Parts: sequence; C-alpha cells; structure tokens
Amino acid sequence: MTDQELRSTLISRIDHLETTLQAACARVGRTRAEVQLVAVSKTVSARVIRIMREMGITDFGESRPQVLWSKAEEIADVNWHLIGHLQRNKIERTAPLLHLMHTLDSTRLATSLNEEQLRKSRPPLSVIIEVNLTRESNKGGFSPEEVPPLGEFLASLPGIRIAGFMTMAAYSDNPESSRSTFAELRQLRDAMQQSWGNRFDLSQLSMGMSNDYAVAVEEGATLIRPGTTLFNGLESE
Ligand SMILES: *Cc1c(COP(=O)(O)O)cnc(C)c1O
Repeated sequence: MTDQELRSTLISRIDHLETTLQAACARVGRTRAEVQLVAVSKTVSARVIRIMREMGITDFGESRPQVLWSKAEEIADVNWHLIGHLQRNKIERTAPLLHLMHTLDSTRLATSLNEEQLRKSRPPLSVIIEVNLTRESNKGGFSPEEVPPLGEFLASLPGIRIAGFMTMAAYSDNPESSRSTFAELRQLRDAMQQSWGNRFDLSQLSMGMSNDYAVAVEEGATLIRPGTTLFNGLESE
C-alpha cells in the first residue's frame, strides 16, 4: 500500500471506532474526553504507527518490550504504553520509554521498577495493576484476593505511582459476556480507593479490546486497548 492508501484505510477505521465510542459514552452519560484511546500496534510496523501519529493518534500499546524499543527508536513524540509482561532484566531499557505501564503483575516487579526510578533520579513511573479476574492460567496479573493487602506495600514505593487497574475479559464473540468482568474491575477499584485512601489516585481503568471496548466504556473504562479493529490486514505494511 502507498502511504495514501494506508492513510485512507486508517481514517475509515478510526471513524468507525470514534462513532462506536461516542455512542457508548452517550448511552451512559460520559464524555468522549474521559476515555483515552490506546491503539494496540503490536502487529504493525513503525511505518503504520508513524502514519497514524501524523493523523493525530498519540497513544500506542505494545506487548513486547524489545519490539517497543525498536519502534520507539524509529518514531518520536508518541506516548508508549506497555500492555504485556515486563521481565525485570528489561526494566532498565523499557522504563525510560514508557508513558504508562498497564501490567504491574508482581510485587518483585514493583520493587525493581521503584529502585530503577530512584537510582536514575527519575520522576515516579505511572503504573496500572493488572488483575486476572477470569483466573485463566495463561493470563498474567494478581488474583483479586491478592490486591487488597498490596496497599501498604505500594504506598512505600516513591518511584512508582499507582494509577488504577487493568484487566482482560475472557475471549468471546459476544461482547456482553465481558460486562460482568469489567464491572468487577470497577468495583474492585472503588473498594481499593476507599480502603487504601487518598494516598492513591486510582482513577484509571484499562479495559476493552476490539471486540468489547464499547461495553468497557459503558462500565467505566478510561483507557481502551483496541488492536485488530484498527490494524487487521496491515501486518505486512
Ligand atoms: C493484543 C492485546 C490487545 C488488543 O487486542 P485486539 O483483540 O487485537 O483488539 C489489548 N490488550 C492486550 C493486553 C493485548 O495483548
């Protein structure tokens, strides 16, 4: 595809997503500005991301740190979100590139991220706690029971700033089947905001992918993570 063909393909996909998103916001009395689009670019090249960036999309999600490193070298002025597992030996190269990390999945990772930010005298890294609400063994994240006792520990780490919670619903063709999982994440967040108190601002809820982002917005998502609906078929571009 030429740049122009790619641009027009992306424009119509973004238009479709925006229409769906605004309708979902309207159904529950939210504004579009309350929801940040994180375009999950893990299947496409830096070229596709660059064209999308030129169209005004600012935030991109990558699941593999090494891929994020190489794309970040090629494209400036993008907010990078990590949406996959981060091994501790990749923290040093990854942390300085990140706008937001959606996948805090262990206390060891929290400790190491904290140490790295303090060692480099960087401002706190914004991180979101991943919760495995569906209890699927192939998914990362804390189990819901593990979350409440984390408050004291996380409050003792000045190098990271906890911004909220992230989850993935079980895969299904029917987006409605994600609703109870998303509602559960919101309820967990509300409960933790109450019990952990105002040392934390847990306002971010990262939930909703291509098939279920409208339901996620209805249930309070502030960050949505669609990939396929934007980039399907563009893997070779
Ligand atoms: C791949 C991925 C997405 C995007 O999924 P699509 O179904 O392609 O929209 C969102 N979140 C996470 C954590 C992912 O790994």
